[in-house]
Amino acid sequence: ASWPQSSGIEYSDLQAILTTTPDADKAREWSQYYTSGPHLAGKNLSQAIWTKEKWQEFGIANSLIVDYDIYANYPKGHRLALLEKSNNSSHQDASDDGDKETWNIAFEASLEEDVLKEDSTSGLADRIPTFHGYSASGNVTAQYVFVNYGSYKDFEELVAAKVHLEGKIALAKYGGVFRGLKVKRAQELGMVGVVMYSDPGDDGEITEVNGHATYPEGPARQPSSVQRGSCQFLSFAPGDPTTPGYPSKPGSPRLPVDHAIPSIPSLPISYVEALPLLKALNGHGPKASSFNKYWQGGGLGYKGVEYNIGPSPEGLVLNLVNEQEYVITPMWNVIGIINGTIPDEVVVLGNHRDAWIAGGAGDPNSGSAAFNEVIRGFGSALQAGWKPLRTVVFASWDGEEYGLLGSTEWVEEYIPWLSASTIAYLNVDGGSIGSNFKSAAAPLLNKVLIDTVHLVQSPNQTIPGQTVGDVWDKQINTMGSGSDFTAFQDFAGIPSLDVGFTTNSKSAVYHYHSNYDSFDWMEKFGDTGFQYHATIAQVWGLLAANLIETPVIQFNASDYGKGLKRYVESVKEKARKAEIVSGEEVQEALFRPLDQAISHLQIASKLHDNLAAFYLQKLYDNDIPWWKWWEKVKLFYAIRSINTKYKLLERQFLYAEGLDGRPWFKHVVFAPGRWTGYAGATFPGIVEAIEDNDKLAAQRWVAIIAGLVEGAAEFLTPDA
Ligand code: GLU
Ligand code: CA
Ligand code: ZN
Ligand code: ZN
Repeated sequence: ASWPQSSGIEYSDLQAILTTTPDADKAREWSQYYTSGPHLAGKNLSQAIWTKEKWQEFGIANSLIVDYDIYANYPKGHRLALLEKSNNSSHQDASDDGDKETWNIAFEASLEEDVLKEDSTSGLADRIPTFHGYSASGNVTAQYVFVNYGSYKDFEELVAAKVHLEGKIALAKYGGVFRGLKVKRAQELGMVGVVMYSDPGDDGEITEVNGHATYPEGPARQPSSVQRGSCQFLSFAPGDPTTPGYPSKPGSPRLPVDHAIPSIPSLPISYVEALPLLKALNGHGPKASSFNKYWQGGGLGYKGVEYNIGPSPEGLVLNLVNEQEYVITPMWNVIGIINGTIPDEVVVLGNHRDAWIAGGAGDPNSGSAAFNEVIRGFGSALQAGWKPLRTVVFASWDGEEYGLLGSTEWVEEYIPWLSASTIAYLNVDGGSIGSNFKSAAAPLLNKVLIDTVHLVQSPNQTIPGQTVGDVWDKQINTMGSGSDFTAFQDFAGIPSLDVGFTTNSKSAVYHYHSNYDSFDWMEKFGDTGFQYHATIAQVWGLLAANLIETPVIQFNASDYGKGLKRYVESVKEKARKAEIVSGEEVQEALFRPLDQAISHLQIASKLHDNLAAFYLQKLYDNDIPWWKWWEKVKLFYAIRSINTKYKLLERQFLYAEGLDGRPWFKHVVFAPGRWTGYAGATFPGIVEAIEDNDKLAAQRWVAIIAGLVEGAAEFLTPDA
């Protein structure tokens, strides 16, 4: 039964509607719409309007466009050429004084992806050039060095091996860490440009060298495919780099951006265009494989690449030209709202709409297509008389690709309301690009996630009746970054999760941020029947329904305590390895305040969860006689207070001053890793202090976190 007394439909009816509405053919239709032409951030108004109108048509009358004025770049021109010096002294006539050197073009990259007749959007006249978001304009000519993935650690090894980096251009493989952090580190080391390419060695088993045909004939990587993407310094802050912490409204004051985005130019290229560059390094400098296993090079050995590090000889240089136009331009979020009975308990669902390419059939529009099916489901429920208990908000974000722009600006604008009222944020980015269910979640959402995936039939059953939960590896990752949950989780302290079906090492290669992340690819290799689109819509809708409708919020505070305990053990391990303090006793002493606080939180959490279960049972027993109306009112208020504590528990872990050197990140338990970006760090303050070998900072962070955890324990403890 709905609660409090509502005239709405039964919860089981709502679940049935959200399970049966998502339709593969409809998802296919929405996918086709979103992926039929360019819809780059700030250049997709028609899709924003279409989305808003669709949602209204589905029954979400209160749907509107919310826009921001955001600083971003669009590509104007680029060049990448390999230049070779030739000493044509033989042609020199005697009268000519001085050496005449000429530079020949050994190779000129097209910087274009192939136009394929089997892939209709790859040949659009207005297709989007290959470029990097927030990259710096520049024209540099220099020797170059192969830097492996260009991770912090990779650069450390190069420095240790005395490879000369200053003044050179980095040639890096994609992968491992967020691309902007590769540029950041290269720039800090005095390099003058970065070229990134997608090495088929990172494509798992489905490669040409393993005998698979390349797209469009087969599932292996199309050799000319290029990964576009943002190079903002994500770990500083997401959002508009000129307005960290506050919304980019017309007339907002703007800060300088040098600490937030690169000042050296960068370009993304395909492996086919990286080949001549890599081959030209053969025989120059140490071999990548001489560093260690992780540095083995890549998957182009069969093309004659030996993966030498370089630098390229003096007579062999790259000319890298990047021309970007920077503007302040509107970007459009679409926001749909269904008001609930309880106005200050809100669930937000979000997906981004903007893509780097005309397609984006995987990223993000497999999520967008599924989203429309979720919303169509909620629309049908409203039509059937559903009166939601809590308020639900749908968000189609713009500008995710450049740096989570639309979601971050929106959170920064509505932070007072969001932090007072939001119980959870549910994100789906690429919802179906493969068949492996993948999840990341804040610990409070573990329970609802696990419960929900067991309600949905898997499209991939070996035994009839298997659910998504049954065929899932049961792994719930910690929240890092790389999608729109970041501002909710790390800035606002709202428990968030991110789910989707993704690839594994045996899947068709996903052409991430390339022209071939297209409708044609999706239909031929990604999700041929659009079944996974429909399935992720079911998961997403049912997750939301649980959080919107269950009278006692289905959080499990004990899971938070458990999580914290696990994280602290792993941090202790790091501290031991780094020998930040010596001696077991001293180490124990360093962490003691935090250990104590966590055990207090564990006790308080257990009590709270038990109390929550007790009241829920009392509600379901429904045995208070009508004439004891005040008992019912008391129960109502008891549940309200339980829910308020669940709602605000995650907020207790926010630290107003933020992390050292990146004050935008307020959450002391979760943050994107300083040098990984995508992968999450737990207790980032302590971990970074350990990495910096700063004992005082480690002690300070233990004290800060222990204080907040004690506060959280106290906050949860029932009033006497
Ligand atoms: N999801 C995008 C990417 O990985 C944007 C991430 C970001 O800028 O934070 O490139
Ligand atoms: Ca901002
Ligand atoms: Zn995305
Ligand atoms: Zn993306």
